Amino acid sequence: MCKIEEIKENYKGFSDSKIENIARNESKELRKGVLGILKEEIEKRNLDKKLITWIDAETNTLSDFEKQTLLRNIENLKCPNCGLKENKLIGQEFNTIVSVILFCNNTTENRILCSSCSRNKKIKSFLINVFAGWWSRRGFLLTPYILIKDTINLFYKKKINNRIIAEFIERNNGMFRLQGTDDETLFGLISWHNNDYKISETENGNLKGIKKSTTRS
Ligand SMILES: [Zn+2]
Repeated sequence: MCKIEEIKENYKGFSDSKIENIARNESKELRKGVLGILKEEIEKRNLDKKLITWIDAETNTLSDFEKQTLLRNIENLKCPNCGLKENKLIGQEFNTIVSVILFCNNTTENRILCSSCSRNKKIKSFLINVFAGWWSRRGFLLTPYILIKDTINLFYKKKINNRIIAEFIERNNGMFRLQGTDDETLFGLISWHNNDYKISETENGNLKGIKKSTTRS
């Protein structure tokens, strides 16, 4: 049996909810042949037809030109935090560490904000880290690392911005295809992204609350 036939057999054995889950969250990573199998299963089982619309939107990747245009539109939106339009929006990473005796919580948040809100949030994270980071064994070891990392990050603002905006565009490809890229849609998606995207690491080193398409790099 060739590989694609094997995949076909596997898909036949999947439950409806697994098929729905793949369609919603993983279609972007599938190659063309497998996408065909997935769509076939959705049709055969009479699952929600919107899943096929979603797969088509997710896999219709934005061109470089579309991405560049989007990038400029994002930069010129009003800030989802302060509501002002005085500075260009930028994507930045905020690391916060809080520890008390045995508890240590290390959080990385990727946010798209205006430069003024970003600066204020950086200062807030810095103060939290300096005052609340040290007070557990793990925090004692981790806090200097985070303070150094944040200092180095100050020199790579543009690189971090490019990474965070690119990730945002990549994650929302399907939404852009279905809902368009007008300012209102973009603003809504950025607000959602800012509330959603958080990587939390607890004392035992487990990562908590990672959303599907976020990766630690
Ligand atoms: Zn702002």
